[in-house]
Amino acid sequence: MQNIAVAAIEALQSDLIDRNKLQAWLLRQMHDAPVCPSCKTEATGHAAVSFWHGGRVCCRNCKAYYSATSKTPLSGLKTPPQRLFLAILGHGLGLGTSKISDLAGIDPSTVREIKGRFAAAGHDLSSLRGKIERQQSAAGV
Ligand SMILES: [Zn+2]
Repeated sequence: MQNIAVAAIEALQSDLIDRNKLQAWLLRQMHDAPVCPSCKTEATGHAAVSFWHGGRVCCRNCKAYYSATSKTPLSGLKTPPQRLFLAILGHGLGLGTSKISDLAGIDPSTVREIKGRFAAAGHDLSSLRGKIERQQSAAGV
C-alpha cells in the first residue's frame, strides 16, 4: 500500500482540493481587510468581493488599480496555489530546498524565490519542529 502521506500530497496537487478555496486562503493570509496598498482605503461592496476573488479593483479614494496580490509575496508569482501551499508546508516541516522542490513539484529556484519573497514581506517561514514540541509540552501532551 502507498504511503498515505504521499497520497495526501498527490491529492493536494490534484483537483481534489479546490484551487479557488486554496487561493482564497492564501489571500486571507496576506490581508486582514481588502485595502488599497497605496492609500489604505478599504474596498467595500462589489469591489471587496472582487478583491477576495483575485480581481482588479479601482480604489474609490486614490483611483489606483490593485488586486489582492499587489505588493504581496504573491505578486506576479505563477506558481499554482496547491504547489505554493506545499512549498509553505515544506518550509514549516524544516525541509531543504531540494526536498521542498520534490514535494511541491516546483523548481528549486522557485522554492528559494518563494522563501525570499515571504521573508522580505515579514512572513515567518521557519521550521515548526521545535515550536510544535514546545507547544505540546506546555499543553502537557
Ligand atoms: Zn487608494
